[in-house]
Amino acid sequence: ETPLVSQPVPPDGKKKRIGVMTSGGDAPGMNAAVRAVVRMTIARGCDAYAIYEGYEGLVQGGDLIKKMAWSDVRGWLSEGGTLIGTARCMAFKERKGRLTGAKHLIEAGIDALVVCGGDGSLTGADLFRSEWPSLVQELIDTEVMTEEQVAPYRHLNIVGLVGSIDNDMSSTDATIGAFSSLHRICEAVDSIGSTALSHSRAFIVEVMGRHCGWLAVMAAVSTGADFVFTPERPPEGEDWESDMCKVLQKHRDMGKRKTIIIVAEGAIDRELKPITPNYLKDICVNRLGLDTRVTTLGHTQRGGTPCAYDRMLATLQGVEAVEAVLDSTPETPSPVIAINENKITRKPLMEAVKLTHSVAEAIGQKDFRKAMELRDPEFADFYDTYVHTTIVNDEAKSTPKDKSLRIAIIHIGAPAGGMNAATRAAARFCLNQGHVPLAVHNGFPGLLRHDSVRELSWIDVDGWEIRGGSEIGTNRSTPDIDLGLAAWAFQKHRFDGLLIIGGFEAFTALGQLRRARASYPAFRIPMVCLPATISNNVPGTEFSLGSDTCLNALMEYCDVIKQSASATRRRVFVVEVQGGKSGYVATVAGLVIGAMAVYTPEEGINLKMLQEDVEHLKRSYAHDQGENRAGRLVLRNERASNTYTTEVLANIIREEANKKFEARSAVPGHVQQGGIPSPLDRVRAARLAVKSVQWLEQHAFKSLEERAASETAAVIGIRGAGIIFTPIDVLEETETDIAARRPRQAWWKPMHNILDLLSGRSVPEAAT
Ligand code: ATP
Repeated sequence: ETPLVSQPVPPDGKKKRIGVMTSGGDAPGMNAAVRAVVRMTIARGCDAYAIYEGYEGLVQGGDLIKKMAWSDVRGWLSEGGTLIGTARCMAFKERKGRLTGAKHLIEAGIDALVVCGGDGSLTGADLFRSEWPSLVQELIDTEVMTEEQVAPYRHLNIVGLVGSIDNDMSSTDATIGAFSSLHRICEAVDSIGSTALSHSRAFIVEVMGRHCGWLAVMAAVSTGADFVFTPERPPEGEDWESDMCKVLQKHRDMGKRKTIIIVAEGAIDRELKPITPNYLKDICVNRLGLDTRVTTLGHTQRGGTPCAYDRMLATLQGVEAVEAVLDSTPETPSPVIAINENKITRKPLMEAVKLTHSVAEAIGQKDFRKAMELRDPEFADFYDTYVHTTIVNDEAKSTPKDKSLRIAIIHIGAPAGGMNAATRAAARFCLNQGHVPLAVHNGFPGLLRHDSVRELSWIDVDGWEIRGGSEIGTNRSTPDIDLGLAAWAFQKHRFDGLLIIGGFEAFTALGQLRRARASYPAFRIPMVCLPATISNNVPGTEFSLGSDTCLNALMEYCDVIKQSASATRRRVFVVEVQGGKSGYVATVAGLVIGAMAVYTPEEGINLKMLQEDVEHLKRSYAHDQGENRAGRLVLRNERASNTYTTEVLANIIREEANKKFEARSAVPGHVQQGGIPSPLDRVRAARLAVKSVQWLEQHAFKSLEERAASETAAVIGIRGAGIIFTPIDVLEETETDIAARRPRQAWWKPMHNILDLLSGRSVPEAAT
């Protein structure tokens, strides 16, 4: 856990100077990374420097190496691209260029470098570090510098951050920028979808990814595309063109009016021949007679404000990079900061680069199996999810009756982004496995009062991946409104398995059904709860569906009011955030918008806290000069305190500000449910839904006695390093704060500490 207070002097007593640069292609989130590195460096008592224009800045030196102050990076979280510039620098590829770079670094007194870029930039960084001793020696030998001058700089620390929209770096599940790029792609494909539908057209959409199909596959899962082409998994079979036509024609025969094909820039066939959008277009026109257009998304994919995930990733990784610099010794190999299934980790930089290159080599040698294996396991999982939910399996129709399960899907609680995407994926996976997916409409009241149970067909759920709300209807009521009647309905419809999608009520419902198994045998079937709620307060998972959509909606809202606050006059907005008694949404939203303070129910609000925060605000506004009239935000979770309401907080701040600045309250309310679900929620929904049905299958064929065991009623969750099913009784007993309707442990607490650190709330001397 990051300590709350800064350490004015690092452990070894030497004040470090840490340089940060962005290099290679720009990626959304790079600014958030630079902000985090600069502020964390200052908070740790060191000096921060920005190297402008990537390696060009090192080679040219002078004004391109600038000391950064705390306030220099204000407002950078929401900016796309990179504000310190990036460049492709040929000179740095030569030793001579790197020698000049070394000289400039020593002159500026910089002894550590955080490089944010793709594999090329990180290769350059590692080479620079390995050559460093010899470069320093050469500077002495050629009398450019003296022994004394270089003595403190015999060692250079390098830490890598992966900033790249392609997500092509091995060793990390996500690179900074990849999810923002996925946002841009999904926005584009969603728009193309409506015109394709209107004209009954086919569209071939080319997305970025020269050596990596991550963007293409994730976009295909998110948008329900009909076909996808990637570099590392070329289409199988000699005549893949005919196979593709069969799939597309089948989708048309089933009633689809649009056809979307997503092609990665580097898509190839098994003979390494490029598969071009125009070639695909000709096939669609000539063989299927489809009115077909090609859309190349190009540089729009790099642009725009970073999404919530990238701001969070870049911030957490930037903080970790500074910690890694301070931890390193001359012996430690250079690390790259990674993320593996939601854990920020450090990996050896050079190994990550080598692994990345070996994917390209495997593709070059036509060893596609190896190429897929070398990618992160999540990637292969998403590819399978795509196939399971898009390509119709004809053989499923001949599944014998005794192998075909009747799987019920029900939504409980408030709508959350991804509920429909999960229902679509579950229904399609069921159909492909020869099972019968049954939608229970309008929750338990729908089942009990109206017997609303309907079979879902492949085409029924088409397009659901992009819809917000709940297509099958949702209701807050839990089955205890009439357990006997519920059991009767389960029996009547012969449910063999149940998928409950929803928030804390869904969790509660599962607990009730499990307990009622003793009296009602109809409930002795496998049952799984797939958490979906913007509050992200369901025990058993670190992330629920809808929470990412909510964060993005809230972030956009806050970006807008922050802008208005700084444009008009010095103004603080106190924003009331949903989340019930869980401070997750408020905390992470605060982290990604750069809030001054966040009030959570876990921590509560007291007078001392308020007083300190008001002082902090006063100091910050006193420090603002001329043009720099920033708007500031304070987030308050709706249940953080009964006394200090949002309005009261705004009043207190206004009163204390004594006309030096203004304070207003803002309540985004239902805006937080978000409109169209975010790509992350869509892909998570699809992956978790498929896994849930696979789990139901695993248990459904067991003996009656085994099916009644408590582990057959579980919550599926993303936890630490994987996707895990935890029995509901275990969660209820050990992890749930029933009264507060949230998990007992808030795993995200360290993020609150980082937020306080980067907002200057816990580092007063740095902020002023
Ligand atoms: P992206 O792939 O997202 O564009 P990248 O970091 O891989 O990012 P590159 O153009 O490959 O982009 O590299 C950026 C810069 O890093 C180069 O212009 C060069 O200055 C430096 N660089 C790349 N490879 C090397 C190398 N082998 N040795 C030294 N410097 C290198």
